Amino acid sequence: MFKAYIFTILLAVFSFNSLAQNHNFAQKTIDTLASSAFYGRGYVKDGDKKAAIFISKFYSNTGLKPFKNSSYLYPFSFPVNTFPSKCEVKIDGKTLVPGVDYIVNPGCPSIRKKLIIQSISDHKSYPEKRKRTALLYDTSYKLEKQELASAGNFNLKIHLQKKLTWSVATSKDSRSGIEILKTSFPVNSKKIKVKIISKMVNHDAFNVIGYIEGTEIKDTFIVLTAHYDHLGMMGKTIFPGANDNASGVAMMMDMAKYFSKNPCKYSIAFIAFAGEEPGLIGSKSYTDIPWAELPLGKIKFLINLDLMGSGEKGMAVVNATIFPDYFNKLQQANGNAEKKYLTGFKSRGKAANSDHYWFVERGVKGFFFYLMGDYNHYHDIGDNTKNLRLGEFYDKSFLLIRDFILLI
Ligand SMILES: [Zn+2]
Repeated sequence: MFKAYIFTILLAVFSFNSLAQNHNFAQKTIDTLASSAFYGRGYVKDGDKKAAIFISKFYSNTGLKPFKNSSYLYPFSFPVNTFPSKCEVKIDGKTLVPGVDYIVNPGCPSIRKKLIIQSISDHKSYPEKRKRTALLYDTSYKLEKQELASAGNFNLKIHLQKKLTWSVATSKDSRSGIEILKTSFPVNSKKIKVKIISKMVNHDAFNVIGYIEGTEIKDTFIVLTAHYDHLGMMGKTIFPGANDNASGVAMMMDMAKYFSKNPCKYSIAFIAFAGEEPGLIGSKSYTDIPWAELPLGKIKFLINLDLMGSGEKGMAVVNATIFPDYFNKLQQANGNAEKKYLTGFKSRGKAANSDHYWFVERGVKGFFFYLMGDYNHYHDIGDNTKNLRLGEFYDKSFLLIRDFILLI
């Protein structure tokens, strides 16, 4: 009895310690990937390549096997519009702070001009004869194509916004444009001075792929995926991407650590994708030309992790309604009313919103998990490690996903 009691305590202490270790490992990984040394894991200063090397080293140190001649890297390339030098915006002589007060449209062509601001709502005729004009429109205003065409000879679009949400473009827009936070825009401003240099580049990127061999069914794979790229830099301003998606990569790596010590029946492959933000390019490339050693037909189930930093409001499951048997298994893994990992699930259908999409379109079964909570930084400079500190739901969702994998 006493022995059993001691044993129970030891087991509890041990599992608490190993959970705490997981938690610390994941937070440290997020802190590293979202640090300024990785430049927002994008297209300036080799940010995404630095992340690819970091993940490769982790695979190697953790004992993951490469599929190809001792390399984990799956290469591909795509065009992307970049902002390699400092962006400057001044309104009536006042300098706006990039990322805080404004963002540049991702497809913005270079522009270096002093312009007169003309609001679209407060005049009837567009500034056809005035060449040096910036066209201003408000938060809710939708500038129609036709209207743009008839708006004449303006040089810059200024869209006022309630929240700044940046992204990546693979081509240039026909006109330069910026978005300014409505509260940062001085009322009745007359003049704007802009200096934005953009450059289209053909960007080389790498998916990072490794695996842990199964104990029984070695040629069938459960695949865990997470994209490691983010938006990179807008001039000197870094978009760190802590939740999107250093958090998902951290959990994927945490799973790799766990399953390297506790291999399961099936082999488990891990794919860290690049090129997600410009339009799921890394995962599309892989499904276009999969490696012969990891063909789509050998994937039993795929789990994509993106935005795994919160969880107080449960977990969203994309494709839950498409694969109800697997959704049942997930609910089973979550436990009963007395012992539940997460408060609940948001069951969703198909969605082209992360890297699971092309796999499922091409016949692979899979879910995309993202955690829901109060964390509201998305594609902005606030998605950083100061704001993202992992809580208890990281541990709980880790255990839930691990238990789900064991039920597959
Ligand atoms: Zn993402």
